[in-house]
Amino acid sequence: MTVTLTGATVVESLDPVSVAVGPLAVDQGRIVPEAPRSAGARDCSGCVVVPGNVCAHTHLYSALARGMPYRLEPPEDFLQILQRIWWRLDRALDLDGVRSSALVGGLDALLSGTTTVIDHHASPNAVDGSLDVIADALGGLGVRSVLCYETSDRDGASVTESGLAENRRFLTRLERDRRPLVRGLVGAHASFTLSDETLRACIEVAADFGVGLHVHAAEDAIDVHAVERLAANDGLDERTLLAHGVHLDEREAALVTAADAWLAHNARSNMNNSVGRAHIAGYDGRLPLGTDGIGSDMFEESRTAYFRLREDDGGAAASWPLARLADGARLAGAIFDEPLLGTLRAGAPADLVVLDYDAPTPLDAESVAGHWIFGLGSRFVRDVMVAGEWAVLDRKPVHGDVRQIAHDARLEAKLLWQRLDELGPHTFEPKGGPRWQTTAA
Ligand SMILES: [Zn+2]
Repeated sequence: MTVTLTGATVVESLDPVSVAVGPLAVDQGRIVPEAPRSAGARDCSGCVVVPGNVCAHTHLYSALARGMPYRLEPPEDFLQILQRIWWRLDRALDLDGVRSSALVGGLDALLSGTTTVIDHHASPNAVDGSLDVIADALGGLGVRSVLCYETSDRDGASVTESGLAENRRFLTRLERDRRPLVRGLVGAHASFTLSDETLRACIEVAADFGVGLHVHAAEDAIDVHAVERLAANDGLDERTLLAHGVHLDEREAALVTAADAWLAHNARSNMNNSVGRAHIAGYDGRLPLGTDGIGSDMFEESRTAYFRLREDDGGAAASWPLARLADGARLAGAIFDEPLLGTLRAGAPADLVVLDYDAPTPLDAESVAGHWIFGLGSRFVRDVMVAGEWAVLDRKPVHGDVRQIAHDARLEAKLLWQRLDELGPHTFEPKGGPRWQTTAA
């Protein structure tokens, strides 16, 4: 597509903040200094154009969990939350449920101004082909995505094998059929549900394909030695994407920074699961934000993460949420080999969001952070472009029918919830000794 966006204030970069006024031209998927004369124009008067947001850690498979009935004893700790909620939900998923979840989650991402989602998928009874189903659903909507299957020993040896095989199969397929909007990582659940053998196998697959490992690390105190174990098995490097890091001790934090690994911070999820407060100082530049499945609205996530930070640290700069979102774009840029991703400078992939936000106070490089925290939000998302193609126009998805997707999802959710009701709590738990010495259910 060749188009010029006219009349907008353009936030060219979030870190450092750079704002320009004037037309923004897009040609052949990229921002260009000037569009060819034949280019069409889209009037963006009174709007602010920002780089598309990146959600650095999510679980689209949880999209149909919204409002689901819960009839077991209330969970009292993090392990029980997994055993009684998420490890039941994932086992109840079939491929239709996976597709529906991806469509609902993908649509939610686009409509809230998120152009890239980095997903961590689990469906132990529908593993084979699940990543294709997600890739097709997201690709159909026009979302950029980074996918993996979360390998775990919690459901027994055959599911472990299937998980590894799904990561391998999907990465092989991506090598063969290059899809511009999809990349893969190798997924691993968390240290405490992985045997040494399985953890090493995940690390080997990642090394074979030259991609990173995407793994939960120290989300709760139950996941001890997670980073230490990764490092000891050569599984921690600049491609590794760790999620949470709430309970990292100083030694492990030093390992993360020395390896230049990415640490996805999921403030709202940490609050919701009462797992504690991540000590996030020292990771700047490698500290993207994730939602851990609580939608994909990065305006909301970044704002909440900032307020939570400010509760303890009144000196935290207003630029903090913007810098963390820029970290997310850097992560996605590294995975897609697009160093300019997340900027709106000439040569960058045209992933952008048009916000219908007629700023009531001056908006410039100095004030944009204040607008982000106290004014801007996903409710202003009017248009979304991914890789130079419109994915949302005038608040409606270009490639999906919102009502149809919601209608189908409600039917799928009913079936999913029925299957879920038949499942008791998951019986997996870490056994004594070193926490990673586990037995499967
Ligand atoms: Zn997660």
